[in-house]
Amino acid sequence: MSYENLSSYQMVEIFSKIESFSSFDRTAPTWTPRLNKIIEILNDIDVSYSVKHFNVSGFERKFTNIYVSFDTESSDKGIVFVSHHDIVNAKSQNCQDNTASFCNLLRMIIHLKDNKPKIPVHFAIVDTEEHVNPYCCGSQVLSEDIKMGVFGNIQACVNLELTGLGKNIWVSSFESFEEETKEIITALNASPVSTPYNDAAVLCLHGVPAMCIGILPDSEFEIAISGVSYPKTWSLCHSMADTFDKISEEDMNLFLQKLIGLVI
Ligand SMILES: [Zn+2]
Repeated sequence: MSYENLSSYQMVEIFSKIESFSSFDRTAPTWTPRLNKIIEILNDIDVSYSVKHFNVSGFERKFTNIYVSFDTESSDKGIVFVSHHDIVNAKSQNCQDNTASFCNLLRMIIHLKDNKPKIPVHFAIVDTEEHVNPYCCGSQVLSEDIKMGVFGNIQACVNLELTGLGKNIWVSSFESFEEETKEIITALNASPVSTPYNDAAVLCLHGVPAMCIGILPDSEFEIAISGVSYPKTWSLCHSMADTFDKISEEDMNLFLQKLIGLVI
């Protein structure tokens, strides 16, 4: 089958049926079924990518980041779009956390293959976010690669979490990088919220400008921006309730259009 014409929503359905391994499972192979499917899609759509393995103490297997780059002749700074691929609960469909996000990135990669971006655009589908260890995880490895110049000159990283349902874009950013992230946040018309731990916090901790973005439906969006409590969508994370029926193809497509609009 060809993945070229699938929407990000249709890709999530495929991943929701794959039983894989928890990020904490010491019996897991380096190449988990989820990781293999991501590689199968990248091979099928015929883009070049690189695989970055790294070690985590206490685990025999390797952990894995996957990078895709679209360079341009422009001297503008690039954007790195980030999403974690690892999971906590192997029995859950894990649709919102975080399959929807890396499927949105895969769909964006397919689009940029035929539509050259105006600025350099990079993608990092990273591992081990779920370990909640900012000093040893995929986004920490990514921060080292960015600082070593692997991705050239970078404006900021845009980390995606919970991007399967809703028409309102939220952003969690960090005052220390207000200047670097302002333009992107304004272009997305995103509203500031405070969020749980995520890869953007890790990147900022290591000196790389980053923000975390996601989407929410109206009622939950109000709760998130009020800061009174966490929206219920966020509590789906790692649970059996994080299922395919709770995401929306229309919402994902609208979100993708806004994301692509940042770079086209
Ligand atoms: Zn997540």
